[in-house]
Amino acid sequence: MGRLVAVCVALVLMSVKGMAMEFEQFELKNGMDVVVVRDNRVPVVTHSVWYNVGAMDELPGKTGLAHMTEHLMFKGTPRHPAGEMDKLVQRKGGIQNAFTSYDFTAYFQKVPVQELESMMDLESDRMVNLALNDEVFQPERKVVAEERKLTTDSNPQDRFNEKVMRAHYAHHTYGHPIIGWAADIAGYTKDDAVAWYRRHYAPNNATMILVGDVTAEYIRPLAEKYYGKLKPVDVPPRTIDPEPMRSGPLELVAVDAQVKVPSWAVMYRAPSEMAGVAGEKVVAGEATALWVLSEILGGGDTARLYQELVVSKGLADNAYATYDRVRAAEGTFDVMVQPKVGITVDKIGPAVDAVLAKLLKTGVTEAELKKAKTSILADEIYARDDGFTSMYRLGIWLTAGGKVADFDRWQSELRALTVGQVSTVARKYLRADRRTLAVLAGSKAQLGNLRVTE
Ligand SMILES: [Zn+2]
Repeated sequence: MGRLVAVCVALVLMSVKGMAMEFEQFELKNGMDVVVVRDNRVPVVTHSVWYNVGAMDELPGKTGLAHMTEHLMFKGTPRHPAGEMDKLVQRKGGIQNAFTSYDFTAYFQKVPVQELESMMDLESDRMVNLALNDEVFQPERKVVAEERKLTTDSNPQDRFNEKVMRAHYAHHTYGHPIIGWAADIAGYTKDDAVAWYRRHYAPNNATMILVGDVTAEYIRPLAEKYYGKLKPVDVPPRTIDPEPMRSGPLELVAVDAQVKVPSWAVMYRAPSEMAGVAGEKVVAGEATALWVLSEILGGGDTARLYQELVVSKGLADNAYATYDRVRAAEGTFDVMVQPKVGITVDKIGPAVDAVLAKLLKTGVTEAELKKAKTSILADEIYARDDGFTSMYRLGIWLTAGGKVADFDRWQSELRALTVGQVSTVARKYLRADRRTLAVLAGSKAQLGNLRVTE
């Protein structure tokens, strides 16, 4: 963030009013939602199907099933053998992929417009006709177990992050890894995957999002032909069991000899657009205020954290803040610092705390607010230039529980936002008693006076 501001200011001023994304939306009789975003600059279309199911819906002992099912979706149906979609997409110069997160599982293909119909044929077929047996399931389960070994298990930061998330979300399912615990991957069966697939893969639990040179008028008959024939199923409503309030801060400090560059981070419990902290009601505008706060505090090299820790004090190579605004359950507001080589990690906490204390005491300035608003708008305009990003942001918004009509609500909130509102959310959520400190270093010497807890 921040980098684009200089070149985009004029663009922002001209385009703010017209920035709202233009959607066309309709629902099929079976309950499947369709959203069409027009972009006629190139004759391609991104066809995506988003299921309202992800790792957060998994039960203890069966973690990773959402991701496992994503793998199985490429294993073919009686009508379309495994690999057919890949070949077709490649032959037409398109791309395809899938992703699993806490709130969703999604599949997409970017293809020339004339290939859209064949994509709908294949995608609607695998929504309900996947051929799942042990010959397909068991080798793929091993692939996933191997994927876990090669990613999380062989990366010290990822291994530590799993522990941090488990501690931070001690109760909520955001505390388990998307890929699943190794013991769960080893233990689940084909029947577990089939049950998951039958329960969650249905037109009434899915949204199709299309971005490209197409209109709803063009899409509707195709959507009806391929997806409209599928029967809705009884999908259990998503339960969001809030993470209870805890009595004090959490601290995880670990040493791992494989770590080359130490990391310092704090996670503050924060509301998302959809859910308040510990089940509290969402307060309108707070998420937008937290977004602006993350920009002022740590949105780039002119933000407060970078200026203080990197530029003035020379303690770090990087310092920034991030805020996950769109989630089905509560989110986090994170501050992350990469200490400079030769600086012990114990120097970081007091320096960050000083930046925060000043902000909580005197609030933010009008100039900072104005700059943050401009920067956020510039980033959004730039991001929307890309069809894939538009599709992705809309998908995460809808699967987190947002409505299409509210997708751009933040823009009016942003325009009206005051310095007082930013200071209010800072004081309300950047609370030491609600934070999780996570420090990982390569040796005890790198930690300085910090004591290992793990
Ligand atoms: Zn995978």
